[in-house]
Amino acid sequence: MRSIAAGGPISLAHYMAQVNAYYYGSRDPLGAAGDFTTAPEISQMFGELVGLALADVWTRSGQTKTPHYVELGPGRGTLATDALRAMQQARLAPTVHFVETSVTLRERQREAVPHASFHDDIDSVPTDAPLLIVANEFFDALPIAQAVRTEDGWHEVMVGLGTDRPFAPIPGNRRVDARIPAALSDAPTGAIHETCAVGAAIMLTLARRLMRQGGVMILIDYGYVGPATGDTLQAVRAHRYADPFADAGDNDLTAHVDFTVLGNAARQEGLAVFGPAGQGDFLTRFGIDARAASLARAAPERTDEIDIARRRLVELDQMGRLFKVLAVAHPDWPAPEGFA
Ligand code: SAH
Repeated sequence: MRSIAAGGPISLAHYMAQVNAYYYGSRDPLGAAGDFTTAPEISQMFGELVGLALADVWTRSGQTKTPHYVELGPGRGTLATDALRAMQQARLAPTVHFVETSVTLRERQREAVPHASFHDDIDSVPTDAPLLIVANEFFDALPIAQAVRTEDGWHEVMVGLGTDRPFAPIPGNRRVDARIPAALSDAPTGAIHETCAVGAAIMLTLARRLMRQGGVMILIDYGYVGPATGDTLQAVRAHRYADPFADAGDNDLTAHVDFTVLGNAARQEGLAVFGPAGQGDFLTRFGIDARAASLARAAPERTDEIDIARRRLVELDQMGRLFKVLAVAHPDWPAPEGFA
C-alpha cells in the first residue's frame, strides 16, 4: 500500500489482491472470535450434504478409479472433514488436495485433515483420476476490477489517497468500454460494473481439467446472475461491515460473484452447467430437514441449536437466497441432483 503514496493510484483489483494476501496470510479470520462465519462453520449439515451430493454423482457415474477431492480455500478444513465423512459412508474415499495460499490456514487444515496434500494453485493437482471439486466462499475473496460509467464512457476505478481516510476509490483515466457487456450499454452515469478476471481464469483452468479427467465441481458463494451493475465490494471485520478503504489488511474484502461469467467459462470448455440454485433450495432438496431431525434425535438437548443453524443456512432472508450453488460437470457424467 506504500506504493500508492509513492507511485500514485493503483487499480482496485491490485489493491484488493494486496490487501487480501496480507489479510488471509496473517490470521485465521473465521468463527465467533474472528471476522466472519461461513456455512460449514455454522453446522456440520452443510459439509455433509455437499459430500453426499458429490458421492451421489460419483456413484451414478459408475467410475471405479479413486477420485481426487479438491477444495479451493478450505478455511479451517471443516467442510472437507464433514464432506469426507459423509462420502465415507457412501463408500467413497478420495485422496484430498487443498488449494490454499495462507500459511496460517494451512496449519488449521492440516490439523483437520492430516492426510491432505497442499497446493499453491490448481496446476500441481494430479492429472491421473477424476476430480470432485468444492469451493465455498472462495471466489468472493478474489480481486475484482470495477468500471464506472462517466459522461465520457466507462473508466477503470482506481484506488488513490483519501482525504478523510487513508485511501479512496477514484475514476481513473483508462477507458475500459470493451470490457462492458453490451446489455449494459444504457447504464446511467455513475453506474458501476464489476469483473473478476482471476475468478474467470481459475474457472477456465478447472473446466479444462474436468474435461480431461472427468468429474464435477460444486461452487457455493454469494452472488448474482449477471450481467448487472452495482458496487458489491464489501469489508467485514468482527462480524460488522467496515470501510473497504480504511484499515487495509485488517478487514476481509470481498465482492459478490457473477455466476453467469463463471458458468459461461465452464460451458465454453464443454462442461454441462447446473444452476445457480439458491442455497436454501439446494440443501432442502438434499434433505437438510431429515438430517436436522436425525441429529436432534441423537442429541435432544441440542434440538434448538440445530434448528437455528438449519434456518440460518436455508431461510430466504438469511443465507438461503443470496448464497447460490453452481455445479459444473463433464458432459458424459450424470447430472448432479439439487437443481430443480
Ligand atoms: N471455504 C472456507 C473458507 C472461506 S474464506 C469456509 O467456507 O469456511 C476464503 C478462503 O480462501 C481462505 O481459506 C483463504 O485463505 C483462501 N484464499 C483466498 N485467496 C486465495 C487464493 N488466491 N488462492 C488460494 N486460496 C485463497
